[in-house]
Amino acid sequence: MNIDQSKIPQATAKRLPLYYRFLKNLHSSGKQRVSSAELSDAVKVDSATIRRDFSYFGALGKKGYGYNVNYLLSFFRKTLDQDEMTKVSLIGVGNLGTAFLHYNFLKNNNTVISIAFDIDEEKIGSEIGGVPVYGLDHLEAELPDDVTVAILTVPAQVAQSITDRLIKKGIKGILNFTPARLSVPDEIRIHHIDLAVELQSLVYFLKHYPNE
Ligand code: ATP
Repeated sequence: MNIDQSKIPQATAKRLPLYYRFLKNLHSSGKQRVSSAELSDAVKVDSATIRRDFSYFGALGKKGYGYNVNYLLSFFRKTLDQDEMTKVSLIGVGNLGTAFLHYNFLKNNNTVISIAFDIDEEKIGSEIGGVPVYGLDHLEAELPDDVTVAILTVPAQVAQSITDRLIKKGIKGILNFTPARLSVPDEIRIHHIDLAVELQSLVYFLKHYPNE
């Protein structure tokens, strides 16, 4: 099962966690195999795309049999580094940040928020959802070298300067929940999730394309 990961297209890679979550559920309910049609129905990705995606993983479904759940699961576990715990930092312990600290990411994947930063004296020194909160002044000193991912839930106007510091400290990926568009070097990966925009876009689509 030696698959060259650089050959997996990015769009396919993005769907991996989705497939993984569903297959884990199937596995715990005792299912040994699954068809692309069943998968398609559950994860809402058309079955041709699923078949193409899975062919990159070396998983070739058999007609009338489908895919072997165990094979796929062990592939996903390996590819998504599920045997290894990924520690993540969170900057900005406001409403959204606090919710993330309480959220159990381990339910669905092997990531955990291990450290948080804020500037609010009331929060600094406390533990929220079992995660210690440090002052942002101590970012460089306290952020461990093995933490290379950060979740950004600070006010937009401070997002860029914090991002610059995070990158200097060795952060490689940022999940940006602020509305700020961040400028970063090419090798840094930013995933931007603007909840307000997503919500507005949903409402717009419901209004203007109600039947699609
Ligand atoms: P949210 O946007 O998550 O609902 P909120 O409305 O509670 O949060 P915001 O003003 O957006 O509050 O701030 C989010 C958090 O970021 C707060 O806990 C605030 O103390 C913190 N914060 C503000 N400025 C900075 C900064 N420069 N560095 C780190 N944290 C900051």
